[in-house]
Amino acid sequence: NAPLSELDPEIAAVLKDELARQRDTLEMIASENFAPRAVLQAQGSVLTNKYAEGYPGRRYYGGCEAVDVAENLAIERVKSLFGAEYANVQPHSGAQANAAALAAMIKPGDKIMGLSLAHGGHLTHGMKLNFSGKLYDVAAYQVEEDNFRIDMDKLREQAIAEKPQVLIAGWSAYPRQLDFAAFRSIADEVGALLWTDMAHFAGLVAAGLHPNPVPYSDVVTSTVHKTLSGPRSGVILAKQEWAKKLNSAVFPGQQGGPLMHVIAGKAVAFKIAAGEEFKERQQRVLEGAKIIAERLNAPDVAAAGVSVLTGGTDVHLVLVDLRNSVLDGQQAEDLLHSVGITVNRNAVPFDPRPPMVTSGLRIGTPALATRGFGAKEFTEVGEIIAAALKGGADIAALGARVKALTADFPLYPGQEEW
Ligand code: PLP
Repeated sequence: NAPLSELDPEIAAVLKDELARQRDTLEMIASENFAPRAVLQAQGSVLTNKYAEGYPGRRYYGGCEAVDVAENLAIERVKSLFGAEYANVQPHSGAQANAAALAAMIKPGDKIMGLSLAHGGHLTHGMKLNFSGKLYDVAAYQVEEDNFRIDMDKLREQAIAEKPQVLIAGWSAYPRQLDFAAFRSIADEVGALLWTDMAHFAGLVAAGLHPNPVPYSDVVTSTVHKTLSGPRSGVILAKQEWAKKLNSAVFPGQQGGPLMHVIAGKAVAFKIAAGEEFKERQQRVLEGAKIIAERLNAPDVAAAGVSVLTGGTDVHLVLVDLRNSVLDGQQAEDLLHSVGITVNRNAVPFDPRPPMVTSGLRIGTPALATRGFGAKEFTEVGEIIAAALKGGADIAALGARVKALTADFPLYPGQEEW
């Protein structure tokens, strides 16, 4: 029963260092967030000890009466949050939710059509080294070269020519809302199922600040840890008619025992996401992204060859285009890291540079909004990023401005260690 600090000081030091890093820097990776203390508590609990293969009321193990309550709460809360008829809260991750969704909908060799990875799609939407690219026939669609947006008329033409069994709506790096009604009508026209992967924007949907794909889609998957700010994991939503196939695709199809501690954390996160505070936070997420997009699209930044893809954003992230900058994606990521801002480099569509270098940055506001940032702080963050990317700035002075922001918005206050 020795505490971590005594039993394993090396790992205790990792936790301490990571908490310090999260506290002392500005986290702007668009897919990251800070899970509330109550979620971390559920995750770091005795529920991790429990095997519960099966579903509530139909388990292959005894002693599931307590964890059944957690799973049922998670299911009911997420159904109500998104207006879904059916939910499966067992996927360990977004990728596993996606693998199960495809396994339930189609068979190996069938055709899927999603946004190409190089244009903002996800690995699980058909990338050739991923299970999705290996098991299924892939016809990827792209954004337009002149405006970096998905052209729904072209997508319709391509879908008619390709006749996919599954049409995929969803992205990991795309700064605009998708037209789910148009996706539905294209899917219907070509006889495809529509699968929406809302991993990135689910928190905005929950808050009513982004169109909800659930009414339009056959199946919707999501992660729980991005804008939703729950535990690292996945979830599947669908019409009731999919229940049997999806349940069996998750267990025993993809997974064994569900992570009951994580499922309890999901239940907590879904409860929080239904509240007014969560909605107010998501409004700051959107406001912050707009402020940063506007700043990085201003003429003084453009003079340094830096701009914002599509000229702005409707969501929680901004895609910075560095194709005309002296900085490549790697250099820009390193530069921001040196002032205490964490972002990730990201290929822009039609990127002339290799994927490990790239010509873009993906900058997200969810984590800082969780920390309490509003318009004033996001304006300051925009100024710091603009100054860094324009070049010639005093890095130490920018670092001091970052430190001041982190000091004003303490993360997990009162928590000594984790
Ligand atoms: N789907 C989309 C659109 C994503 O952006 C991601 C993660 O980046 C995933 C799925 C996969 O989630 P995970 O990393 O939990 O497997």
